[in-house]
Amino acid sequence: MTDPMQQLLVVQGHDLRDTQLRTRRQGLPERAEADEVAAAQAALAERRAAVDAERHRLEREQAKLDDEVASLRDKSAHADKALYGGAVTGARELQSLQEEIASLARRISDLEDAELELMVERDPLDAQAAALAAEAAELDRRAEELAQRITVAEAEIDAELESEAAARTEAAAAVPDDLLADYEALRSQRAGIGVARLEHGTCQGCHMKLSAVELDRIKALPPDARITCEDCGRLLVR
Ligand SMILES: [Zn+2]
Repeated sequence: MTDPMQQLLVVQGHDLRDTQLRTRRQGLPERAEADEVAAAQAALAERRAAVDAERHRLEREQAKLDDEVASLRDKSAHADKALYGGAVTGARELQSLQEEIASLARRISDLEDAELELMVERDPLDAQAAALAAEAAELDRRAEELAQRITVAEAEIDAELESEAAARTEAAAAVPDDLLADYEALRSQRAGIGVARLEHGTCQGCHMKLSAVELDRIKALPPDARITCEDCGRLLVR
């Protein structure tokens, strides 16, 4: 028959492995990397919004200038019609129409210059927007790749956790309930280790040497007697 204390050490081994796997699952390096990418995505989104707002402002200004130019061209066309239509014949009126047409042409030219300036201002912003969009696409690609790697790593760890749990259940079946309960209580109080080997008079749980008196006392006990470390209180396996 299997020695319950030896089986308890096997249970302890599975429990430690379980803790390790959960720690690894929690601390996957891909998770930290994904957090960094998410922060970069948020920062980039802000920069893109700022550039887009500036581009839209220029677009609105340009549309306003377009409207003004169109309306001035209308006025100029009207004046042109009046000038060459034959209805106006007075020399002063004709001169005034000519002056109006010339003045409209100057204003149109000024507005068109302003429009050109806006376009010159917009060019680098468009280039910047395109560069930021490419950067965002690259970050999206990395985020997607990391998410996939995390899913794969989690699935691998979960499969290991499952087989550890099954093996633990099997090992625990050979340990009496009261001993298992004591072990679990100790484990929760003693940094995850409830049972340890006694090797060369030293508890492998806390690495303290037991006193000669205690070692003599233990030696005199029957082999199935339950013994604990006098320093840390953990169950000891001889
Ligand atoms: Zn100890």
